[in-house]
Amino acid sequence: MTPVIAACVLVLSATPAQAALQPCAVGYVRLTFDDGPNRNATPAILDTLAARGVKATFFVVGSMAAASPGIVRRASTEGHRIGNHSWSHPNLTKLSREQVTSQLARTNETIKQATGVSPTEWRPPYGATNALVEAAARDVGLTSMVLWTVDPRDWADPPATTVRDRVLQAVRPNSTVLLHDGTGANTPEALPMILDGLADRGYCTQ
Ligand code: ZN
Repeated sequence: MTPVIAACVLVLSATPAQAALQPCAVGYVRLTFDDGPNRNATPAILDTLAARGVKATFFVVGSMAAASPGIVRRASTEGHRIGNHSWSHPNLTKLSREQVTSQLARTNETIKQATGVSPTEWRPPYGATNALVEAAARDVGLTSMVLWTVDPRDWADPPATTVRDRVLQAVRPNSTVLLHDGTGANTPEALPMILDGLADRGYCTQ
């Protein structure tokens, strides 16, 4: 019985374009959102993700998370992963070890206060890292550094259709897509189109 039930669910939930490919046939893509939370963009993005049953990772800036802990809590409650993106978004390679530790530890504490969980994933601002920075991260429990493979430069505010096209042209199986909910004025508008395009191409998101 189970395969029959699964097939029925698939038919009922798929658009004609999606039905052409088995879901996840091509592979998985990881969606990440940096530099938030933002009081406008982040709830809009969370609404889109919830409506489509898609999970993502939010690499939050600690000072922003401290200003809007309810949004971080909502993202965590809805099943998204919360990562550490430093307290004030500096280039960590320009700081002392003590300053790097402060940037990351304060943000860990803010995330834990908001969600009840201390993060293990982190992303250095600008992707700028070195051995000292990574050692400081490990010392505060940040064991997994997550960079990216697809960068549509949404923070520079290209049109939503441009953000979509850049993502869909560059995406490959196991891509990690860098998007922004703190900057990137057109990202909330681009997201539904990106999700449609990924589904049409046989990708699932994680
Ligand atoms: Zn950033």
